[in-house]
Amino acid sequence: MPNSATIKLDVLIFGAGAAGLWLLDDLHRRGYRALLLEAHAMGSGQTVASQGIIHGGLKYTLKGLFTPSADAIKAMPGIWRRCIEGQQPPDLTATKVRSPYVYLWHTRSITSIAGMLGAKSMLAVKPTPLDKRDWPQPLQACAGKVYKLDEQVISPVSFIQSLAQQHEGQILRIDTERGLALETASPGQVQTVRLSDISGGDPMELRPAVVVFTAGQGNAELRQRAGLSPQAMQRRPLHMVMARGELEPFNGHCIDGSRTSVTITSDTDSGGRTVWQIGGQVAEDGVNMTPQQLITHTQAQLAAALGKLDTGACQWATYRVDRAEAATHSGVRPDAAQVLHEGNVITAWPTKLALVPALVERIAALLPSPTPQTPDQPIAADRWPRPGVAPPPWETADQWFDND
Ligand SMILES: Cc1cc2nc3c(=O)[nH]c(=O)nc-3n(C[C@H](O)[C@H](O)[C@H](O)COP(=O)(O)OP(=O)(O)OC[C@H]3O[C@@H](n4cnc5c(N)ncnc54)[C@H](O)[C@@H]3O)c2cc1C
Repeated sequence: MPNSATIKLDVLIFGAGAAGLWLLDDLHRRGYRALLLEAHAMGSGQTVASQGIIHGGLKYTLKGLFTPSADAIKAMPGIWRRCIEGQQPPDLTATKVRSPYVYLWHTRSITSIAGMLGAKSMLAVKPTPLDKRDWPQPLQACAGKVYKLDEQVISPVSFIQSLAQQHEGQILRIDTERGLALETASPGQVQTVRLSDISGGDPMELRPAVVVFTAGQGNAELRQRAGLSPQAMQRRPLHMVMARGELEPFNGHCIDGSRTSVTITSDTDSGGRTVWQIGGQVAEDGVNMTPQQLITHTQAQLAAALGKLDTGACQWATYRVDRAEAATHSGVRPDAAQVLHEGNVITAWPTKLALVPALVERIAALLPSPTPQTPDQPIAADRWPRPGVAPPPWETADQWFDND
């Protein structure tokens, strides 16, 4: 049995989704000696399954109120835009922007649009009405009004790839079942993290000053290992739909009352086909449906939202994914990014991809100053396995259904 290398760290992060990677980048720039541990592929869980919309809050004002959720998120599109344009760190210039804006349209409810416009004056990103001649092809048969909203839609996979590539030396793949042990002095006070690897990497003994859990739904189990309550987390399930085939690239929300009946984002799959990812209310409705039931329900919702749309040559699939968030009393979505600080453990859930910069800012404010050392000093883990990036859901779907 080889001797363990003992490594002192300022911060040890668990979970290389959007939150963990952005945090690693931020800490590196601030001079912290930090390491990021990933149990699966990076971004698996929520980030790669997400629709990638960098919300500015309008979705949360549909009842005509400027809500706490809308307030928390309103500065985010500007931050992401500047990072993507290379004007501020992190460097997200390699992140693919699927669309620089989304469309908003409504089917029947006038109150929804009235409410939305009533609250929009408080938002940083506001919808602008479009002349009919500027409506996109999928909305040509729409009976209501169409707006454009400057919320970017990013490719989550490219975002994860771009951040991970910049910090390869600081990200390790771990085996949480057989190769991870947390030693605590008291609940929430992690002293030592022992890593062993079955594929040949030398065992490691990590001594972190602070441990951060950004492992999405993995946070519950990690908290338990650190002697903390797993009940601090809630899961809210979604059942998402995908269509692939002869579709126009399109990104937008259909507003129906105070909700979005469908939210459509699009990308291109490895076969060159356009894929629509369809969420919004249909993904909530579909939680107790079979894939076929949900596909039929979604087709009806799309017909109501878009009027005429030829999806004859499309294939359909679904995927299930849980949103992982800090628990709220009523089980509803938290208003903002959530951070718990207990002992030397910080547990964090961004709630939304868009809110990751705000989450990282809050975590950084809780940290002691970095210990004086060379931040670029490599961590001796040359033979340790590195995680890959999770593929998007349309590349891993078990079954695609043809139209009946
Ligand atoms: C279907 C869907 C659509 C969404 N669309 C949007 C959207 O359009 N806009 C928006 O702003 N937000 C959206 N969200 C929310 C957003 O995706 C999440 O808030 C965000 O991605 C969470 O990032 P995270 O890094 O906290 O978690 P995750 O992305 O879940 O990453 C957690 C990481 O931790 C790893 N891990 C798990 N357990 C362990 C462990 N024990 N040790 C080490 N690593 C571990 C996982 O493998 C994973 O890589 C959407 C969410 C879903 C589910």
